[in-house]
Amino acid sequence: MKFNTKTIHGGQKPDPAYGAVMPPIYQTTTYAQSTPGGHKGYAYSRSHNPTRNALENALASIENGNFGFAFGSGLAAIDAILKLLKPGDEVISTNDLYGGTYRLFTQIFEDFGITFHFVGMKNASNIENYVNANTKLIWVETPTNPMLNIIDIKAAANIAKKHGVLLAVDNTFATPYLQQPLDLGADIIMHSATKYLGGHSDVVMGALVVKDKDLANKLYFIQNASGAICGPQDSFLVLRGIKTLHVRMQRHCENGKAIATYLATHPKVEKVYWPGFKEHPNHAIAKAQMRDFGGMVSFTTKGNNYAEAIQLVEKLKVFTLAESLGGVESLAGHPASMTHASIPKEDREKTGVVDSLIRLSVGIEDETDLIADLQQALG
Ligand SMILES: *Cc1c(COP(=O)(O)O)cnc(C)c1O
Repeated sequence: MKFNTKTIHGGQKPDPAYGAVMPPIYQTTTYAQSTPGGHKGYAYSRSHNPTRNALENALASIENGNFGFAFGSGLAAIDAILKLLKPGDEVISTNDLYGGTYRLFTQIFEDFGITFHFVGMKNASNIENYVNANTKLIWVETPTNPMLNIIDIKAAANIAKKHGVLLAVDNTFATPYLQQPLDLGADIIMHSATKYLGGHSDVVMGALVVKDKDLANKLYFIQNASGAICGPQDSFLVLRGIKTLHVRMQRHCENGKAIATYLATHPKVEKVYWPGFKEHPNHAIAKAQMRDFGGMVSFTTKGNNYAEAIQLVEKLKVFTLAESLGGVESLAGHPASMTHASIPKEDREKTGVVDSLIRLSVGIEDETDLIADLQQALG
């Protein structure tokens, strides 16, 4: 099955009860048993729920995996991966990653005796410098937030395999429409399904997908034992979102390209970060591992003025000033005062998050309206 068919049919079949084409929202905690243990595969909804299971099958299918797991948020999904580890274990993580992931690693799991190395991965061979006998996990996020750096997944997977270490990839920005990390050698795919998979800014959810059965058993045990599952209503919404993922992503990419190209010619714009430009430092890797370049675009303005950047995002009318990304509507954010405000100016500037940096999640509206909006705000 091709990807554009899998989003609609992958892992899905009509509901056995009445043939409903979309799975019913099984809003139930428990299931009647004919005799103790005599049930139809469902005993309690933390362990299994038919609506969540339908979503989990779809997730596994679109990522070319064998097992999918849905959680109450992206961070709950990452939390489950980290629970595979023990005190004394070490993790090598990209140094340019989602702030909430960084907070979970450093403010929760460091206290449990896990050591994290945050390293530059623009050149993936740098990972190997930090591998030792305690290394258990390599954490890659690509493209990164908000600088849109690209990390070579295949190169990272080769290092992971050579040393018998797990490779997890946060595939939130790319989605399986653009890149399929399991096919490139990754062991675990993680999603904030809150973003493109849900796609409509109406649900918070996380997901994991793996191929390996032993790894799946361990993750299922953690999902059930720790209990950070999502509810049936949210499962239904994300399953519905996935059915249009390929159509939405195609338009996100077209509009992203149009906006990046427009911004690059604007006299007030200093620099545009978008992996589709030939000048992007890892454009060749992006081209090799991604189908297209996505709908996320960041840029800075000349003079690098904090107040001017805030004025710019306030003036936008079609773009909404808001956190998050990946929905059908266009959003704009100012990392220095929003997502990255808690990071000291000196530290954030080292990774490129300067005062005038603006991050756009380009939606699927008409591109001429989006460009006109940026034009009036920049004007
Ligand atoms: C939003 C996000 C997360 C966290 O997901 P939540 O659903 O908000 O918990 C993790 N990684 C990336 C890249 C994200 O954008």
